Amino acid sequence: PSSDRPRSITILGATGSIGRSTLALVAEAPELYRVEAVTAWQRADELAAVARSCSAKLAVIGDERCYPALKERLAGTRIEVAAGMDALVEAAERPAEWVMAAIVGAAGLRPTLAAVRRGAMVALANKECLVCAGALLMREVARHEAVLLPVDSEHNAIWQALAGSERSAVRRLILTASGGPFRRWSLEAMAKATPEQAVSHPNWSMGAKISVDSATMMNKGLEIIEAHHLFGVPEEAIEVVVHPQSIVHSLVSFKDGSLLAQLGEPDMRIPIAYTLGWPARLATTAPELDLCARSGLDFEPPDLERFPALRLARLALRQGGAAPTILNAANEVAVAAFLARRIGFLGIARTVGQVLERLAGAVVDDLDAVVAYDAEARRMAAAVVATIEGCGPS
Ligand code: NAD
Ligand code: MG
Repeated sequence: PSSDRPRSITILGATGSIGRSTLALVAEAPELYRVEAVTAWQRADELAAVARSCSAKLAVIGDERCYPALKERLAGTRIEVAAGMDALVEAAERPAEWVMAAIVGAAGLRPTLAAVRRGAMVALANKECLVCAGALLMREVARHEAVLLPVDSEHNAIWQALAGSERSAVRRLILTASGGPFRRWSLEAMAKATPEQAVSHPNWSMGAKISVDSATMMNKGLEIIEAHHLFGVPEEAIEVVVHPQSIVHSLVSFKDGSLLAQLGEPDMRIPIAYTLGWPARLATTAPELDLCARSGLDFEPPDLERFPALRLARLALRQGGAAPTILNAANEVAVAAFLARRIGFLGIARTVGQVLERLAGAVVDDLDAVVAYDAEARRMAAAVVATIEGCGPS
């Protein structure tokens, strides 16, 4: 963007961790942007404050019960107000050049698809979209000449490292993982882990769902699937390396033996800025990495015994068809059950594994099938949760 022609932008999931980091960048140079729409699920107060501070034209709340509160908080302003799932989709359809897709979970699929279908630049944080409907989403991106800009720090790093090189030169992608808060915990200790322990991530401050995914390492599993769709690389050429400092955000290994990486402080404003300014680079106040102040960078292979979610995600990607849709839906239900203290930490991967096994062989070819398998997997996961809850730490 340039100041003579501000970039029009929409932020889906504006009250979340990614949404707020995006708005912080916008606030650093407000003359470069014009905010079309901002959305949230429930917190009307926060959404109203966000909409006022960035002078959005439209504020949409997903949960219709929160509509009166939002309307009241924005009374007397020129900000339009709407509510409900269809209104979220309409927010994405409004003519913004650039859309941040930062809703959490498969709930973000329809709004993200709506932005893609009008050929927008879509900054994609919502990785569950790609896991749940990767082939479909990529097909729509190509058909409508939309531009997908990867926000997830690992994929943003790979995208930067890939710049200018032909795909046939790539040997493999190396995703770095922090290992989460339980990197050194025994299985016995993990069985008793509480939601508070699971969401206190050592390096990043993020929403609750992705924080739990980080603790189970399902997050890295979802990211393998995300990388497969974004970069067209097969599962076996996507490696995961645990790197506890979260400084090297991922790497590309080329056939000549070169490894290219992107480094930086663990601050999501950096990858978001790369998508927000793209194809230009923005000046930001994000901290620059002080190499000499860092005592060392460590790398180690992941432990698949303690982190079975990684294995399940690879299995789902190899199986293809509806397996990734099912993996994602079952994981969303299991994470919610863990956060509600209905099942233990190890019950998350156990639930996902059982649902994946029971629904093996399912195929998806269109959005209706994706939605149907997503719903079926959620029902089955709820049933599995009911069988393992109350069995003590599982
Ligand atoms: P968050 O929980 O902090 O925020 C989620 C946002 O989505 C909120 O604005 C919330 O109101 C909205 N939302 C929640 N449920 C919704 C629903 N059913 N319908 C519509 N809107 C809904 O989450 P976050 O940490 O900002 O993560 C957002 C997405 O970005 C996730 O897919 C996550 O995996 C991805 N991501 C996040 C980070 C990070 O650092 N936080 C890094 C990489 C990727
Ligand atoms: Mg990531």
